[in-house]
Amino acid sequence: MKNDDVYEVLIIGGGISGSALFYELSRYTDVNKITLLEKYGELATLNSNARANSQTIHCGDIETNYTLEKAKKVKRTAKMVEKYCLEYGYEDKIMFKHQKMAIGIGYSECRFIKNRYEEFKSLYPYLELYDKAMLEKIEPQLIVDENGVGRDEEILGMGARNEYTTVNFRLLSDTFIENAKKNTKIQTDTFFNSQVDKIEKIEDVFYVYTSDKKVYKSKMVVVDAGAHSLFLAHKMGYGLHYGQLPMAGSFYKTDRAILKGKVYMVQNPKLPFAALHGDPDVTLDGATRFGPTALVLPKLERFKPGTYMDFFKTLKLDRNVVKIFYDLLKDNEIRNYILRNFLFEVPYFGKRAFLKDAQKIIPSLKMSDIEYAKGFGGVRGQILDKENQKLMLGEATINTGEGIIFNMTPSPGATSCLGNAQRDVELICAYLGKTFDENAFTKDLIEEKNDE
Ligand SMILES: Cc1cc2nc3c(=O)[nH]c(=O)nc-3n(C[C@H](O)[C@H](O)[C@H](O)COP(=O)(O)OP(=O)(O)OC[C@H]3O[C@@H](n4cnc5c(N)ncnc54)[C@H](O)[C@@H]3O)c2cc1C
Repeated sequence: MKNDDVYEVLIIGGGISGSALFYELSRYTDVNKITLLEKYGELATLNSNARANSQTIHCGDIETNYTLEKAKKVKRTAKMVEKYCLEYGYEDKIMFKHQKMAIGIGYSECRFIKNRYEEFKSLYPYLELYDKAMLEKIEPQLIVDENGVGRDEEILGMGARNEYTTVNFRLLSDTFIENAKKNTKIQTDTFFNSQVDKIEKIEDVFYVYTSDKKVYKSKMVVVDAGAHSLFLAHKMGYGLHYGQLPMAGSFYKTDRAILKGKVYMVQNPKLPFAALHGDPDVTLDGATRFGPTALVLPKLERFKPGTYMDFFKTLKLDRNVVKIFYDLLKDNEIRNYILRNFLFEVPYFGKRAFLKDAQKIIPSLKMSDIEYAKGFGGVRGQILDKENQKLMLGEATINTGEGIIFNMTPSPGATSCLGNAQRDVELICAYLGKTFDENAFTKDLIEEKNDE
């Protein structure tokens, strides 16, 4: 075998995760032959598309399901996205500022917000507490309706008014590839319409077979194929102790900007990221988008044909999976949540049920204000840990230690793209005996400008 047709790193998947890794490898390492294979004709057509996700930089300040410990971690990776965008001047093109807040409604949620503010303000010094009078000024729709009638319940907000909050992750993916290709000293290849069907390792080289009958060779492979990462892992005999439950998220929208910024609600600890939020959509000229909902879908890709069989194969249905479902469904709150979210998808009834939930944010919202956002939403591949009979919420990685890594990125994987890529860059450099320029990386993506 000729060595010159072997890549050093091959990335499968051109969503935000794969493209962020492509960028970091080209910019901060001496890996000099990289390729990325993407199934579709362009980057980020699935979850990383701006219409698929909530466009939010989840930095941990208003995500009430995060502990302080978790918030510290996500803040670090979220800031990387912000620093990257500032470095290239993407403000107001790809990254946007909106005011943002988490609101508590009623006595116990308001106490919760107050305590959380006290606990989190040291990590996020810019955090502000908004009482009813202040909310009426900065986000009036939370308080008064068109007739000037106010909200009766106690309400308290916690948030910020001058932070970057929103990213078009689809456009961000494009920039990662463009900027990586600016390094003309190394080989950076991207191949589209290249669906990987099979991967095998022969001696020290991975052979990657695509549906258009091509074979790519590489010393190392990173699978950033979203909900298909586990599918490809299973094909190679890895991660068999995991199954995957595709959880679709849909949205409702208005035809105009009703909210000025992001409004999140207090999350139920049993159902992280399940509480609805409303915010301006950057693909809809700031019109308000509400969601996401959560619905189990028997397919791995939203708005694309097929992948039903891939769902069944990746579910890995057995006694352990049935036990996980049983435990979820026997909990009243979770069962009601699942049924209610199913209802949200049903024409006529769905809109009525959804309106009630959205009115918790905007009491004056009317039926004529909202419509189901057709073509919006994605699929979060939630991992089922069969050994421990638990639904794992959040991201997962299988590092085989044998030159191939599989990343599963339900949420908030877009925010953590550069942080996850850094983790993989370090593993890649250790495996290939390459160098990671950590100083340059830290200077560009981590250090605060006014540190000294
Ligand atoms: C409703 C919803 C709301 C969300 N909101 C947020 C948010 O506000 N903030 C946030 O940070 N995160 C959010 N997320 C999560 C975020 O969207 C994902 O974590 C992120 O987009 C994952 O990126 P990815 O590149 O890993 O996967 P994907 O975007 O799914 O990309 C995977 C890529 O791999 C390709 N691929 C798949 N199989 C193959 C194959 N066999 N061969 C070649 N290519 C293949 C696909 O075509 C695709 O381009 C949300 C997700 C959903 C569903």
